[in-house]
Amino acid sequence: MRYFGSSGIRGIINEKIDPDLCMKIGKAIGSLFDEVIIGRDPRPHGFMVENAIISGILSQGCDVYKAGMVSTPTLAISARGFDCGVMITASHNPAEYNGVKLLNPDGRSFDTEQMELVEKLIDDPAEPVSWNEVGTSDTYRSSVEDHKTEIINRFGTDHDLKAVVDCANGAGCNITPFLLKDMGCNVVALNSNPDGKFPGHDPEPVEKNLQEIGGVVVDSGAELGFAHDGDADRLVAFDKDGRFLSGDKLLALFASRFNKKVVVPVNSSMVIEEIVDDVIRTKVGDVFVAQEIKEVNAQFGGEPSGTWIFPDISYAPDAIFAAAFLVDLAEKIDISEEIDRLPEYPSKKEGFYVDGKDEIMDRLTELYEEKIDHERLNFADGIRIGYEDGWAWIRASGTEPKIRLTAEAKDASSLKYIYDETKMKLKEVIG
Ligand code: MG
Repeated sequence: MRYFGSSGIRGIINEKIDPDLCMKIGKAIGSLFDEVIIGRDPRPHGFMVENAIISGILSQGCDVYKAGMVSTPTLAISARGFDCGVMITASHNPAEYNGVKLLNPDGRSFDTEQMELVEKLIDDPAEPVSWNEVGTSDTYRSSVEDHKTEIINRFGTDHDLKAVVDCANGAGCNITPFLLKDMGCNVVALNSNPDGKFPGHDPEPVEKNLQEIGGVVVDSGAELGFAHDGDADRLVAFDKDGRFLSGDKLLALFASRFNKKVVVPVNSSMVIEEIVDDVIRTKVGDVFVAQEIKEVNAQFGGEPSGTWIFPDISYAPDAIFAAAFLVDLAEKIDISEEIDRLPEYPSKKEGFYVDGKDEIMDRLTELYEEKIDHERLNFADGIRIGYEDGWAWIRASGTEPKIRLTAEAKDASSLKYIYDETKMKLKEVIG
C-alpha cells in the first residue's frame, strides 16, 4: 500500500497517523538499519508518534538516538553519523497533522525506491529479534550546537545587522534566533516559543499567514525579516521596507551567488536563466531537486516555495543556513536594490477538469514529441515546452481529476500567444 506522499508519511493524528501505523513504520526502519537518530517538531502528539516508532525500531534490534525537538535541517546534519534520520513532523500542515520524513546520511529524503521498500516492510514486517538482541535507546544532545557551529564556521560572528525572525512557534525556535545572535546580529524574535498548536499563525510560510512581520521589520528598523514553517526547512524573507520577497525572486537572488550550475523545478520562473549559465530543470519537489544537485554536482538548488539546498552543508533544504547566508549577503549588497533589478514576467495558470488525465498526458506527450523540436521539451514532470521568450507547462494534478496549464513570458502579448497555443493543443486532445 502507498503510505508516502511527496514529503514523507503524513496525516491527521489518530486518523491516518495512529500508534499502530507508527509502530509498523518503526519496525520497517529497524529492520533496515543498525543505528538511527530521531527528532521531532514541537507538535504535542510528537511524543506519541516518537514513542511508537522507537518501540518498533528497537523490536528489530536497531539502536535509537533521540535528538529531541530539532528542525529538519538540524536533524539532517546529525544524520551524517547514523544510518538514517527519522524526523517526526508534518512540516507546514496545521496542528492536527503529524508525520515522518526519512533522511539519508547525506541529508537527502528517501527516494522512490527507498520509500517503496519501507512501504513493503510496513505491510509485511520482518520477524522481531530475540530478547537479547532488542535495540537500546539514548539521548543525543548536540544536534543544535553542531548545526550552529557549522554555520558560524562559514559566516563568522561579526555581523552587525538587525533581523526579525518569525519561527511560527515551530522547530526553528531553538536555533535560528540564537544562531543569528551568535553571528552578531540584533535579533527580534516573533512566535519563537515552541508550541505545536501554532498559536501565532498557521505554520505555512506564505504571505497571507505572515501579517505581522513586515510591520515589525519597518518599526524596529531591521534590515531583513525571516519566517520559517513548522519544521524550519523552509525560509521566506522580507526586505527592510517590510516587503515580502517572492519565492521566484529569492530563488534568483540565491542562484545569482552560485552562477555556474543550479537546479530548479520545471515550474519556476525563467528569470533564473538570465542570471545563471547552466540551469537544470527537474521534477517539482525538494527531494528531486536534491537528487539532481547530487547527480550533476551543482552548487545550489531550490524551489520558490522556500526550500533552499546548499550541498556544501547538506542535501537537505536548510532554511537556517539560508537565513545566515542572507544576513551575510545583506552586508555586501543592497538586497532590495538587487531584487528590484530582477525582471518580473507575467504568468497565467488554469486547471481543466478531465476524464482520464493520465491517458490525456500520454497522448499530449506523443503529439509534442512528433511536432516539436525535442530541444524545446522537458518531460521531467509533465510537459514543459520552451519558447523563444517564454514557456508553458502541462501537468496532471496529483490529487484531482484535473490537468493544469501554466505559462510565463517576457510580455503580455507573448504570454497570450504561448498560453493560447498550448491551451488549443490541450483542448484538441481532451476533445
Ligand atoms: Mg517543512
